[in-house]
Amino acid sequence: MKTLRESAQAIVIGGGPAGAASAWALASQGIDVVLVDKARFPRDKPCAEYLSPQGSRILSAMGVLETVEHAGAAQLSGMRVRSPDGGIIHGEFAAQHGFTGFRDRGLALRRRRLDPILLDAARRAGTSVREGVALDSLIMVGETVVGVRLRDDGELRELRAPLVIGADGLRSSVARKLALTARLSWPRRVAFVAHYRDVCGMTGYGEMHVERDGYVGLADVGHGETNVAIVVPRALAKEASGDSAAFMTRWLARHAQLAPRFACATRVSDVQVTGPFASHARRGYAPGAALVGDAADFFDPFTGEGIYAALRGGELLGGFAREAIRARSPREALAALKAYDDARIAEFRQKWMVERAIGAAVSSPLLMNHAARVLGARRDLADLLIGVTGDFVPAAAVLRPSFLLHFLDPRRWVASHHKAA
Ligand SMILES: Cc1cc2nc3c(=O)[nH]c(=O)nc-3n(C[C@H](O)[C@H](O)[C@H](O)COP(=O)(O)OP(=O)(O)OC[C@H]3O[C@@H](n4cnc5c(N)ncnc54)[C@H](O)[C@@H]3O)c2cc1C
Repeated sequence: MKTLRESAQAIVIGGGPAGAASAWALASQGIDVVLVDKARFPRDKPCAEYLSPQGSRILSAMGVLETVEHAGAAQLSGMRVRSPDGGIIHGEFAAQHGFTGFRDRGLALRRRRLDPILLDAARRAGTSVREGVALDSLIMVGETVVGVRLRDDGELRELRAPLVIGADGLRSSVARKLALTARLSWPRRVAFVAHYRDVCGMTGYGEMHVERDGYVGLADVGHGETNVAIVVPRALAKEASGDSAAFMTRWLARHAQLAPRFACATRVSDVQVTGPFASHARRGYAPGAALVGDAADFFDPFTGEGIYAALRGGELLGGFAREAIRARSPREALAALKAYDDARIAEFRQKWMVERAIGAAVSSPLLMNHAARVLGARRDLADLLIGVTGDFVPAAAVLRPSFLLHFLDPRRWVASHHKAA
């Protein structure tokens, strides 16, 4: 067993948005941070690659907003959602509801371009970044994490620190080893993601098309490329039987509004497949460890907020982690980590409620058609909801009875039932 270094003050496992933001937040406060990722960057990550307008606030704080824009990120003015019966919900980020985001556009950029920029911000703040180094196991003293064993070029190395941060994504080894993972039984969906050129009719809006056999997101991600992310129930994904490219082609061809738009399109990346992805940590911390980003929770990609949640989680963790590292007793350290978890839940709880409500609507053609009928007729309500998914309108604005009652209006329900029949 070799040592990578004797010790650090914090070890971050994972160099995606959550790990980069956590490391940046800690290193910026003068904390000695080592970040490891099993991948070498640039690497792909299955994602629809859209970043909400409020995400730009954190990019700006990290000093990389201009770099991301100069890297060719597409700018998205809002979202268009098509329901199974063809109803359209159109929402703009710049709207009259009185809430304004840090930017009035979302950004979209391939993760192989975005993630190295974020990682560089962590590096510049003083983080020591080690690529191609994977977590092997946690070093425990009793119930407390005191360090990690890492696999580096086939060798096992030890590194100790008062805090280990699990930012290792959906199937987090850190969460699993600490028995913190609670995979959700619903929804069980699988995603197929690829990049295409020459998709017809792309505009400056992100598109979601909800169908009876799943949904697809289309977004310009700059450089003439369109991100195509098809998400289907797990049972249907079995149809792919090893040929995910053919599955994507068949799925797109069987939807009349999509097929002609792909007639001249060329796929320019491999198809990445991931899922099922809904999971939720029972707790976002343990003695000596904290979880952030997808390692802590992820529900469904429909609302496209994972990158913001990962960045915001990292930013939030920064202050509490510093207290945990500098604590005078294990009890004080644990209290700081619990305070982080409480703050995370307080920040995201209502958003999770909205995500789950949208997840339920997406699973039911009847509900989705109904939602499109209500929101299609009321741009103000659609803008408000799109603003929530853009992370600058508080989720409470769409959880109010005055908003929800629009969906219960019996006349609209009768209209939806008639159309469905
Ligand atoms: C189909 C799909 C579409 C999505 N679309 C969007 C979208 O449009 N917008 C949006 O905001 N979000 C979207 N998301 C969610 C978003 O991709 C995630 O929420 C986001 O990537 C979370 O960031 P993270 O840093 O927590 O994890 P990740 O980005 O997954 O990074 C985790 C890192 O940990 C590393 N790692 C893993 N295990 C180890 C180990 N044992 N040792 C060392 N390193 C390890 C990995 O190599 C990886 O680099 C989508 C997700 C899916 C599945």
